[in-house]
Amino acid sequence: MEKKSLSLYIHIPFCVQKCAYCDFLSAPATEEVRSRYVEALLREIEQEAVFYRDYPVETVFFGGGTPTVLNVSQLEKILCKLKENFSWDAKEISLECNPGTVTPEDLKRLHRAGFNRLSIGLQSAQEEELKKLGRIHTYETFLDVFWAAREAGFDNINVDLMSALPGQTLETYLDTLEKVQKLSPEHISAYSLIIEEGTPFYDTYHQADLQRDRDGVDRMGLLPSEEEERAMYEATKRILAGHGYERYEISNYAKAGKECRHNLVYWKRGNYLGLGLGASSMVDETRWKQTEHLEEYLYKYGEATGNRKADEDRRPEMIPLKKSQSEKFHLSKQEQMEEFMMLGLRMMSGVSPEEFKKNFSVSVFQMYGEVLEHYQKLGLLEVSDQRIRFTDAGIDVSNVILADFL
Ligand code: SF4
Repeated sequence: MEKKSLSLYIHIPFCVQKCAYCDFLSAPATEEVRSRYVEALLREIEQEAVFYRDYPVETVFFGGGTPTVLNVSQLEKILCKLKENFSWDAKEISLECNPGTVTPEDLKRLHRAGFNRLSIGLQSAQEEELKKLGRIHTYETFLDVFWAAREAGFDNINVDLMSALPGQTLETYLDTLEKVQKLSPEHISAYSLIIEEGTPFYDTYHQADLQRDRDGVDRMGLLPSEEEERAMYEATKRILAGHGYERYEISNYAKAGKECRHNLVYWKRGNYLGLGLGASSMVDETRWKQTEHLEEYLYKYGEATGNRKADEDRRPEMIPLKKSQSEKFHLSKQEQMEEFMMLGLRMMSGVSPEEFKKNFSVSVFQMYGEVLEHYQKLGLLEVSDQRIRFTDAGIDVSNVILADFL
């Protein structure tokens, strides 16, 4: 029987400080909490790995948070534990890192330990923009990390960029893009800022929006207009294409052969196991999510003290239900088909009708004929027996189209 492969996602929920726009599961933590977390994570790895002996691990991604808030020995320990416990065939081992959290020596050790892909969060090359975002680093600090990573042997580097930032203009965005492409990283992720509820940005900009509706005074001037945002989006495609980057997913660009294998697993609906706080998993069409509650996680995988009273006292109280580990649920065939379309169409190569038929024993044209025909007529989808994919115009309204596959 053919062996099924597995990808591992390791969540490190710590950051030096919280950025003003961030709603990821991350926060600053003391050294003591970080160290308890690593111990708990090592235990979770041991406990979970026994269920996946038959699944060779092909990609690993350490994300967060800022994984490099942990010290190098802790990261080495986690990677070592994964290697010892899983059936190891990892070709890509990515590590997210933020400038200001690693030294050149750290990078050398991390590369020697086996990490072979580095994803650096830059977001912008403009100091003012970085400050407004609440980032802990300058552009100079980023450059130091980038060159130190090259020196350490990393030949597969991603740089994260953001557009539609407060105070950003087309000119400053173009400057950032030009500076970054000149460094020639193998991969660039370029996302637009989304102002999420519960972040300091939401309070600032959403309130300003409400106030404007009341008194007509526009305090939103700091955010780029829709036209500017559109121009930034167009510039990203044009400039990166002109420098040998292929757009292979809505927001991701790579040099030939340097697509992020781990992310391709998500979009192609391969098996992945998430380890660590709040990490999501999908294996053999079953989905679940680890608890998002740190105390619960530390309790669950913490070492028992042997003293019943002490152990009971450590039990976290009042754990919000929604943050506890979710039940495992098996996706229905309908849900699997929806995901196949929604995730697959994010890739510029789109989906294959033949593969759809092979997976679900039904034709994609039979299932989604009406939707496909509608958007094909509007020039938003390219539809053939070989591939179904977005046209350039279709990508721009992809969210609306994808929703129609639900
Ligand atoms: S570094 Fe990343 S994960 Fe951490 S707060 Fe900033 S955006 Fe969020």
